[in-house]
Amino acid sequence: MANFSRMKKRGRQKMGFGLETRRRKVCRFCENKVDYIDYREEKLLRRFVSDRGKIIPRRISGNCAKHQRAVTRAIKRARMLGLVPFSAEPLH
Ligand SMILES: [Zn+2]
Repeated sequence: MANFSRMKKRGRQKMGFGLETRRRKVCRFCENKVDYIDYREEKLLRRFVSDRGKIIPRRISGNCAKHQRAVTRAIKRARMLGLVPFSAEPLH
């Protein structure tokens, strides 16, 4: 089993975000040694898109710069195919 011994409770329980805000040393793609993010992986990409269709920033997603860029590219491609919604920008 994984080592949960370091998971001690501290005073920081509330983070405000229901999303993945837990601190991770490496991003999930680095962890899985993902090199290329497929734009057809809709389910995966949707995790990095807010309900407004916006791409979730790196600080929240926890991705590294390299993978965040890959995610962004994949999302943009997926949008063209209608897999991921475009951002619903409010009209001025
Ligand atoms: Zn990474």
